[in-house]
Amino acid sequence: MKPYAPGEQPPPGKFIKLNTNENPYPPPPEVVSAITAAASGPLNRYPDPMATSFRRAAAEALGLPGPEWVLAGNGSDEILTILVRGFVGEGQSLRLPYPSYILYRTLADIQGASWEQVPFEEGWQLPAAFGQSRDDLRLVLLPNPNSPSGTIVPSQQIKQVADSLDCPLVVDEAYVDFADENCLDLVAENENVLVTRTLSKSYGLAGMRFGFLVAQPQVVAELAKIKDSYNCDTISIAAATAAMHSQDWLAEKVAAMNQTRQRMAGELAKMGFDVVPSHANFVWCTHPTGQHKAIYEYLKASQILIRYMEFPEWGDGLRISVGTDEQIDACLLMIQRFLDQSE
Ligand SMILES: *Cc1c(COP(=O)(O)O)cnc(C)c1O
Repeated sequence: MKPYAPGEQPPPGKFIKLNTNENPYPPPPEVVSAITAAASGPLNRYPDPMATSFRRAAAEALGLPGPEWVLAGNGSDEILTILVRGFVGEGQSLRLPYPSYILYRTLADIQGASWEQVPFEEGWQLPAAFGQSRDDLRLVLLPNPNSPSGTIVPSQQIKQVADSLDCPLVVDEAYVDFADENCLDLVAENENVLVTRTLSKSYGLAGMRFGFLVAQPQVVAELAKIKDSYNCDTISIAAATAAMHSQDWLAEKVAAMNQTRQRMAGELAKMGFDVVPSHANFVWCTHPTGQHKAIYEYLKASQILIRYMEFPEWGDGLRISVGTDEQIDACLLMIQRFLDQSE
């Protein structure tokens, strides 16, 4: 099978890193203290298999009825693995929109299952075909906000998709903290709506590996049967619990990053880029010159890493993560320099 290729992770310090949608800010100080405290605790003991402290904190922060609506995972990628493993067997299939998060295809391949890509329509609209049921279809996955576009499908429309399918719909909300709406309310209404979240992006904890699922308690209980017994370690559980208690920090950082995103989008548009309006911590842009790969390489040579993405039968472009204002200024300057030189 074809491997999934994650974004480049060079040794720290060498690059301005705007390629994998990490938070440019370090996590809240309370999280660092929790990690230090956990590291001097009883690491000779196994962790709490269900990450109870985290589930309580997440339920409280998100206004869920209780911790039994939450399943913790070693990154939301692990949650996605558990979901595909749980719902999609050999010879069955899952569905994803295109272009979107292609890890889902790898997860299907691992199962000996097939995948069906439904292309977004003009303007990143979800076509009606996305909600059509089919006999062998066992799971539908929708990143919302989507990557690489940063666009969002309104929850009202997602409700209709979920109602018309007869298999579960996973709404991958990795970037939802940067958006104005989410699908948590749909989970209580429909057993088939499963929401995944991560602490890697908005909480600044990509290095810690923590994500979770929000689903009805009977769904969580079934999926818990197929996870590794100790899928989250003591230190990451402590970090993630403290992170869920840091909602003020989150609101502050999200506001700052969204402001930087707006500024970056405006500046890119002035340079002639077509910039898709984003509800996430990155923007997707294309330039009429089509010189996306050359821009990526020029920036890389100047120690600035952005993401060049090519989607067969669709096209290519650049995905630039929101960094600090200084990082974005450096990035914009080099792009301007490239465009000036290539005139
Ligand atoms: C980053 C990302 C994830 C993975 O998050 P982790 O919790 O770091 O595993 C999942 N889905 C999408 C769409 C992402 O962009």
